[in-house]
This record gives sequence, C-alpha cells and structure tokens, in this order.
Amino acid sequence: MRQSIIQIVIIVFTSSWWLFASYALSAKQEPKLNNSVILQYHHVADDTPAITSTRPDVFAEHMAYLAEHYHVLPLKTIINALRTGTLLPDRTIAITFDDGYANIFEHAHPIMRQYNFPYTIFVNPPAIGRAGNQLTWKQIAIMGSQGADFANHTLDHVHLLDRLDDETESEWLTRVVNNIERAEKQLTNQIGYSLKYLAYPFGEFNTALKDALVERGYVSFAQYSGGVASFSDFGAIPRFPAGGRYANLKTLRTKMASLAFPVTNNTITDPVITGNMPEMMVLTLDNSDFYMSMVSCFWQGERMETTRNGNVLTVPLPEQFPIGRSRINCTAPSKEHRGRYYWYSQPFFKARADGSFPD
Ligand SMILES: [Zn+2]
Repeated sequence: MRQSIIQIVIIVFTSSWWLFASYALSAKQEPKLNNSVILQYHHVADDTPAITSTRPDVFAEHMAYLAEHYHVLPLKTIINALRTGTLLPDRTIAITFDDGYANIFEHAHPIMRQYNFPYTIFVNPPAIGRAGNQLTWKQIAIMGSQGADFANHTLDHVHLLDRLDDETESEWLTRVVNNIERAEKQLTNQIGYSLKYLAYPFGEFNTALKDALVERGYVSFAQYSGGVASFSDFGAIPRFPAGGRYANLKTLRTKMASLAFPVTNNTITDPVITGNMPEMMVLTLDNSDFYMSMVSCFWQGERMETTRNGNVLTVPLPEQFPIGRSRINCTAPSKEHRGRYYWYSQPFFKARADGSFPD
C-alpha cells in the first residue's frame, strides 16, 4: 500500500515535471512569422567604389550583430518556406551578394565561415575567372562546399530594359529572356545545380519581363526596401541594400527588423515610367497590425501628402520622375511588434530620351 502511494507520488511528480517542462519549453519557443528580410551587398572591400562597397570592418560589425539577434538562413530555405506558406522563426534573414567580386572570397567569406552563415552570390557566369576583380570557378567551388549558393545575374550585367535600335517589344523580351536562360545554363554546367534565382542587374525590370520569368519558373530579386512574406511578388522580391550609404548599422538595424507590408492591391502595375502615367498610386492595405493614420510615404527624402479612406491609401505621384531609378517608400509602425515597421517600396524606372537606362 505504502509502496503504491510512493509510486503514485513519483508518477504525479514526474508527469507534472514533464508538464511544467513542456510548458516552459513552449513559452520559450520563439514566435513564428510570415516574414523575412534579405540583405544585398556588392563589394566587401575598402578600395572599391564607395557607393557599392561595405568596408570589411563594417561588414564584420553587421555579421556580429546578426549573429546576436537574427537567424541567418539560406535564401532558398526562406524562399521555399514563404512560397509554400510555411512560417519562419521571427527575425530570419538572408544575405546576398551581387556581381561575384573576388573580394567576397577574400573579406566576407572568412567572416561567414566564422559564424557558419549561409549566403548567396549572384554572378555573371562568363565574367567568372576572366575579369580581374571577379571570383574564379575554383573559389566558387570552395565557397559552395562551405555554405554558399550561386545564382543568376545575367550573362553580362546589361540594363535589361534597354532597347536596341528598331527592336520590337517581343524581340526585346526574347533577347533578354535568352540572356538569362543562357546564363542559367552556363552556371548550372559549372556548379551542378540550378536554383533559377535571378537578381535583376541594377534592380531593373518591367512587368512583361517579370511575368515571363515567373512563367519559366524563376524567382527574381530586385533592390528596393521591404520585408518578404508569402504574399510578396516572387517576380520582384525586395532586398535592402547594405552597402555604400546604407551600410550604417544604426539605420540598417531598423531595416533588418522590418516587416513585409501587407499591400493587397496596388494600382501601379508597371514600374517603368511612360508618357501617360496616372496621377495617383492607390494602395489597398491589410491594416490589422497598424493604424492607417500612422502610414507615412516618402519621395526623395520628403514626406508625401497622402489621403486615406478606410484601408485605402492614395499617394499622388510626382509630376516629374528623374531619369533612372527612383522609389516611393511607405512605412507604418507595427502595433504588435513594438519598434518595428512595415515597409513597402514602389520602384520607378525612367529611360533617357534614347530609350537607354543609366547605371
Ligand atoms: Zn549587379
């Protein structure tokens, strides 16, 4: 009798301990979110053009900060999760480099090794091992065996929106899609796999190209502000530039913590500026986690006069767009995640009079 009481006490004790432990575990378990952020670097060096460079010591500072506060996951893990509607641990981030510079191997790779951080490099395959400042295939093989993935940045880093003389719309689309498909093939021949990820050179695209690539199974990456979520446009995924004037960790920190803005409709359907632009951009928003009154939109550093009606935000477009790349950014503080912002960016691309685009 006495023994069975002891047995019961032991059972109750152990099962309540187990309950307590599982409760503590679940309480400690991190929240999962339909959100991630992608950073975009170019050079990691102190002797390259400042506008696209992150100094090695600053880059080391970024990675130390990420190691402390973020989950750095492979880009493909994040994209696969979000495309299938799988939630990710909060504060998940991917690191990408464009252009395949040798200084990534020299200055960034050792730091990535130190933290065991995965990353993705977008390259122009014909330039690899040829141009003096480029990675070699041998370096790519080493990096590939140590956590790096490689993806498509076109054959030759052209401005994809440039038109050749007398080129029709369909001739243009055929030419640029061929460029991308050939680059994918050359890359696959060297590395043995094909992610079908494209980073648009200069972040430039239009809707026809974006749709053609989606149709061919590509996921494409641009360069403008915003988090990524399952509702993102996988034909033009935002990435935050983290080099040049954007390398300052004080401002970059806010971007790392940003949330994908739930825009359910945008009346601007093509980022290319044409002769007959609408006067307004009208955004329909899912404002369940922010106040409409707290949404702010910015154009060239100036806050814009917007109007709102329920969850619809009307943003008057500028009368003049500059030649080249520009964007309207909208942000709103999250109610649930204090100190963090929803972030949306609408890019615009305007050609020169001759139809070409500046670097
Ligand atoms: Zn590039």
